[in-house]
Amino acid sequence: MRVFESAGTEAGDGLTRDCLDPLVISRLRASFSSIVSTEHGHHRLTTTFYATLFAEHPEFRSLFPAALDQQSHRLFQALQFVIDNLEDVDRVLGFLGQLGRDHRKYGVEGRHYFASGHALLVAVQSSFTQAIWTPSLTAAWTELLDLLLNTMADAADNDDLPAAWGATVVDHERRLDDLAIVRLETDSPIPYGAGQYLSVQIPQRPRMWRYLSAAIPANPYGQLEFHVRRVSGGWVSPAIVNETQVGDRWLLSSPLGGLEVDRESGQDVLMIGSGTGIAPLRAQVMEMAMRSNNPRVHMFVGGKYPCDLYDIETLWHLSLSNPWLTVVPVSEEDEDPWWHTTPAPEAPPGLHQRLQGQLGRVVARFGSWADRQIQISGSPAMIKTTVYALQGGGTPPELIRHDPLI
Ligand SMILES: Cc1cc2nc3c(=O)[nH]c(=O)nc-3n(C[C@H](O)[C@H](O)[C@H](O)COP(=O)(O)OP(=O)(O)OC[C@H]3O[C@@H](n4cnc5c(N)ncnc54)[C@H](O)[C@@H]3O)c2cc1C
Repeated sequence: MRVFESAGTEAGDGLTRDCLDPLVISRLRASFSSIVSTEHGHHRLTTTFYATLFAEHPEFRSLFPAALDQQSHRLFQALQFVIDNLEDVDRVLGFLGQLGRDHRKYGVEGRHYFASGHALLVAVQSSFTQAIWTPSLTAAWTELLDLLLNTMADAADNDDLPAAWGATVVDHERRLDDLAIVRLETDSPIPYGAGQYLSVQIPQRPRMWRYLSAAIPANPYGQLEFHVRRVSGGWVSPAIVNETQVGDRWLLSSPLGGLEVDRESGQDVLMIGSGTGIAPLRAQVMEMAMRSNNPRVHMFVGGKYPCDLYDIETLWHLSLSNPWLTVVPVSEEDEDPWWHTTPAPEAPPGLHQRLQGQLGRVVARFGSWADRQIQISGSPAMIKTTVYALQGGGTPPELIRHDPLI
């Protein structure tokens, strides 16, 4: 129970395989699902956590943004991710380590995690309304929280990389009315992997960090590209699309995410990207294009209208010079909306013509993709419907990878 006592130096040891005893896992899952299945259970859990934390440690309040809704959502999604993946120790450890490193951007250090354990346990226990809370549940949650917070604390304290990098906007291209491509040069190169995303803070919205996927591989010049779609009613994305200027100074934090092609598996690759979700897939195929030996990649690129396939020409060019890459454009509607006046490009001769339909269903129409390693990238709704469609077509879900739905 180190979490509730002090910051030991062996943080992370809590994640021994015994901690993942199937009985403990089933207790954790059953209690968590009883919380989330009650009305407002998710909300109760996160508000109780922050209320308890700030009551016990008022000095922590200044580390968080004024509005806690995004923060609460992410906390809940992180817990859900851990609970869903308890059998996959490496995945959970990797995720928690990244989260710990990422939280350094708020000024959160190892000692802060050790103080949070009690607030989390109180939040879980007081949100649990379905049955009697037992000592075995306290033990299971204590064990999990110990693992969770020690791993994050350890990662935060032992990372050699800076907590954040400065970057200057060098280009802002309004590709569609609601979509901009932003190019930056970082003060020093950020060692991210193609397929990863970064936390971003823009000068127009201080302290509101958002995740954006790098659309090009890392390079020694610190050049970076993001594709950003304006979310109606959103805080940050409209400011990026409408207000960003060349010369703006952005802050970027530790690389996150684990989307990558497993070159050892010998399996071919299926990539499915919608809207700006193509960014991490594009970065990976660009990096693969610099290598000589690659697995075959089938990349489905989707959008509502043909004009939403805003970067299809780059991908076609990549596929023309890289025979291992097949790019298949898909749009739900066959025609652009009347207000969009630039005609969508036609596929060069020999390349795949645009297919029509809902992206997940179009991909599933080809049958089972059981022999592929699969990546899906897009909005949470798109990811969920695509996973569902693929499963319906006979694709085993364990082959599918995507970024956390946060
Ligand atoms: C791993 C990861 C990678 C991402 N990469 C990119 C990227 O490369 N490019 C990019 O444009 N965005 C990307 N996003 C989304 C981005 O982080 C923001 O969530 C998005 O830009 C909205 O931020 P906002 O501040 O404008 O909206 P907020 O103020 O955070 O939200 C306002 C409202 O819009 C809803 N909302 C948020 N996002 C969406 C959405 N996508 N569709 C519909 N409703 C939404 C919220 O639930 C909320 O109700 C990524 C997200 C994740 C988790």
